[in-house]
Amino acid sequence: MWRIIGHNWAVDLLQRAIQNERVAHAYLITGPANVGKTSLAIELAAALNCTGDAPPCGSCKSCTKVARATHPDLVIVEPEDGHLKIDQMRDLQRELSLSPYEGRWRVCIITDFQTATAQAANAMLKTLEEPPARVILILIATDSSSLLPTIVSRCQVLPLRAVPTEQIEQALTERWSVQAESARVLARLSAGRIGWAILAAKDAAIMEQRRQDLETLRDLLRQSTAGRLEAAENLSKREDLTEVLRLWQTWWRDVMFVGLECEELVVNVDYMDALREQASRYNWTQAEQALGGVQDTLQQLTENVNPRLSLEVLFLGWH
Ligand SMILES: [Zn+2]
Repeated sequence: MWRIIGHNWAVDLLQRAIQNERVAHAYLITGPANVGKTSLAIELAAALNCTGDAPPCGSCKSCTKVARATHPDLVIVEPEDGHLKIDQMRDLQRELSLSPYEGRWRVCIITDFQTATAQAANAMLKTLEEPPARVILILIATDSSSLLPTIVSRCQVLPLRAVPTEQIEQALTERWSVQAESARVLARLSAGRIGWAILAAKDAAIMEQRRQDLETLRDLLRQSTAGRLEAAENLSKREDLTEVLRLWQTWWRDVMFVGLECEELVVNVDYMDALREQASRYNWTQAEQALGGVQDTLQQLTENVNPRLSLEVLFLGWH
């Protein structure tokens, strides 16, 4: 039983490959953060060496070791100080030249491949060009367009997309015993990132931070120019600034939906009263302009514009 939420097509494809003994030498799993890329890679690693009847059975010795990350044939390589480096790839090449210790396959999962340095990427390319026997490589990256085409073309690419809201809601209530109302809110907020929804269900601090960030936004709108400039300065120091802005994007979009009488599309469903109040103060066009401002700011942050200046322009532009 694959313990994966959503991504049924990818599970079907991998299951069939294992059944027909036509597993690819290398897979590249892409998709946004927290969508389930690493979970899928680990389930694939378990399935490849499972000795039970329905791989991955989740209970045989091999599956148990994979789940605990103690399987000697499972190698996981993660970035160090933000990058995958050439030394890590060299260590990996040495390691992969050995035969499997216990299982049928040595499985290597390399996360965040988009962070690989040019040298590290070239070393990986060599490995992909001459794949060692009995080795399956699973590369994980946010997006295949940022990788060398020569690497992408040597992997079977599995592009994961957002998991439907209903599936996340159901999984939260059934598998993680989250209460119905919380599950509904978390599923909406997750925007298809199941991993985020599970984290937020387990860690109350995540939802508390969201509450504070929404409070900050509503406060800001009541502030004078001086108050807004001060808020810009404070907020520009936040390391998770893009997360805050993404949350505010959902807020303004929700204000628009309420104004358009499309309340069923609202994401922040636990703030309906506040959203209705805002929709009565900001008409559709104003809300759209506010949303556009947040999008522009997010774009500017990727272009290394000074965050404080960018936020000042944003906040002073709001009515
Ligand atoms: Zn098993």
